[in-house]
Amino acid sequence: MPAAAPAQSLPSSVQVKGDRVLNRSMVFTSAHVQEDTGAAQFRPLSTPGNFNQALMDLGATICLPNSTPLCAECPLQCFCTAHARGEETAYPVVPEKKARRMEARTVFLLHDAGKIVIGKRPPKGLLASLYEFPNTEGHLTEKEALQYVSSLGFMPLHIRRLAPAKHIFSHIEWHMIGYEVRVDELTPFESDHLLLVSMQALADTYSIPSAFSAYRKLLPENSSE
Ligand code: SF4
Repeated sequence: MPAAAPAQSLPSSVQVKGDRVLNRSMVFTSAHVQEDTGAAQFRPLSTPGNFNQALMDLGATICLPNSTPLCAECPLQCFCTAHARGEETAYPVVPEKKARRMEARTVFLLHDAGKIVIGKRPPKGLLASLYEFPNTEGHLTEKEALQYVSSLGFMPLHIRRLAPAKHIFSHIEWHMIGYEVRVDELTPFESDHLLLVSMQALADTYSIPSAFSAYRKLLPENSSE
């Protein structure tokens, strides 16, 4: 058997079509065959380009992706395991898509006459380091919302329930409810994650992610009332 080329010698442009042929003929189940050490032995070191081209041609013209492959015309038919099993279209195995996680959140528009409280998200994870309106897990009742605002150190004067909103990330869905809470006049404060900004600064300087757009649009663009 000729010496095998390193697995990474298969260029990415070839990978999808070539992987399909190898997936089927050798019933590898991994989506990318180059990660499967078993595939390396079939890739000759002396002519990897020819090998790759042959795989690509087979994948493009005979071992077709979405219809029945043309096995009768395939030079690999005599030793193709998927064909022998009658399972050609079962490979490559497509991993099941994970269902999105549902998260209930309560969002706060927490403001006085001209200033609003925003937060900065943690440096890692969803919306890392971006600004946001204060929010917390779960759907809080009005009473719980007032308690939450007080726990942040603010004195609520008036609360108004806002319309629910939804935002879909690739792997998470936020199902949000919101409260606009007018608080006693805000004075500058020290916090490691909350900031007090004017409505003008919010419009000019701080970008709030689209996940909060349903609530962002309820605020005046520029207000110094
Ligand atoms: S025999 Fe059929 S399934 Fe197997 S590699 Fe050829 S075309 Fe693909």
